[in-house]
Amino acid sequence: MSNAPAHPQGLAGRLTVDLGAIVKNWRALGRVSPGALTAAVVKADAYGTGLAPTATALAEAGAQFFFVATPDEGLRLRQVLPDVHVFVLNGLYPGATDFYLAHKLMPVLSSVPMLEEWMDVCVAHNEAFPAALHFDTGMNRLGFRLSDTALVRDRLSEFGYLPQMVMSHLACADQPSHEKSRTQLALFQTVLAQFPGIPASLANSAGLMSNRDFHFQMVRPGIAVYGGRAIGGRPNPMAHAITLEVPVLQVRSARTGETVGYGATHSVDKESRIATIALGYADGFFRHLGASSTKTGGRIAFGGRVLPVMGRISMDLVTVDVTELGDALPRPGDFMEVLGPHISVDEQADAAGTIGYEVLTSLKQGRYERVYLDPAEHGHAEG
Ligand SMILES: *Cc1c(COP(=O)(O)O)cnc(C)c1O
Repeated sequence: MSNAPAHPQGLAGRLTVDLGAIVKNWRALGRVSPGALTAAVVKADAYGTGLAPTATALAEAGAQFFFVATPDEGLRLRQVLPDVHVFVLNGLYPGATDFYLAHKLMPVLSSVPMLEEWMDVCVAHNEAFPAALHFDTGMNRLGFRLSDTALVRDRLSEFGYLPQMVMSHLACADQPSHEKSRTQLALFQTVLAQFPGIPASLANSAGLMSNRDFHFQMVRPGIAVYGGRAIGGRPNPMAHAITLEVPVLQVRSARTGETVGYGATHSVDKESRIATIALGYADGFFRHLGASSTKTGGRIAFGGRVLPVMGRISMDLVTVDVTELGDALPRPGDFMEVLGPHISVDEQADAAGTIGYEVLTSLKQGRYERVYLDPAEHGHAEG
């Protein structure tokens, strides 16, 4: 992409996170759901973008409610943002109430044993420590069974305990016409009737972007904040936020009939130029992105041209067919684009047979330098 030297400290590549784009996306989602509080889901290291810088930028932009998956993620968030509200989606880990209280983490309670444990500690301290409730309306993953609704309500009212929020999660929001979302909405409304006046939350990114009926009092976008595609089969309106570039190690010529890489599964069918770059499956570049004589694989860009991977993906190396660049070949040390303006997270995901979420959350394995573009410095215009 550029002629900048490879990293002087010997790191393989450079992952650039555009915090301005992330903030812009979060604000845009807020405008789509104007009646609701816009939280930010920052689990899995803020979808691979880096929890501390990303959550800090979002908090500076006005985000006050954050969702993590695990209590240790909650602690890491608490260490950088002492005053925000932190919900732990995985709920209360058995025996961990003191940890949640010490770090002001709110469990999203999702089973009767979790509820009992939280109520016990509230009674012991005579204090209503805040928590949310998660009801399962059709995923069979986490959440109280709907048949437990009355029991949960009665158990809380024994102590006059008001939960911070009642939530559920949509299974098929990424397919807006899927009838399961309607069914889940109706079931969620029966739950809410038992908790009058308590704020409700149902929508992830796709739910938020597809239907106002899913907004309630709080929306919980993740993927769209990071620029990923939330809804299939339509253009992705979010700003692209992630660029990954890795250096070329060498460029070689290969003759017709030779093969490339492990297993010798990719034969060279014409005089070719091959660039070998410092990237591999150990960096989260999936082995499924390999190519062979009968299968296309991942894509790598150089000089604005999108080029095909050749051969299998190695642990630390990827080979790219750069023949079509003619004389404009990259040189050792030049960066090639793995993700960025020419190859979106979702395009790379499609090539690997996975989803953008997995591409993003796999970035944390990478041997990259991380560069953060500050929202203020780079002044992404609103709108
Ligand atoms: C991960 C998650 C979200 C965010 O989902 P996106 O599809 O990334 O917007 C919201 N709610 C729950 C319960 C989640 O687990």
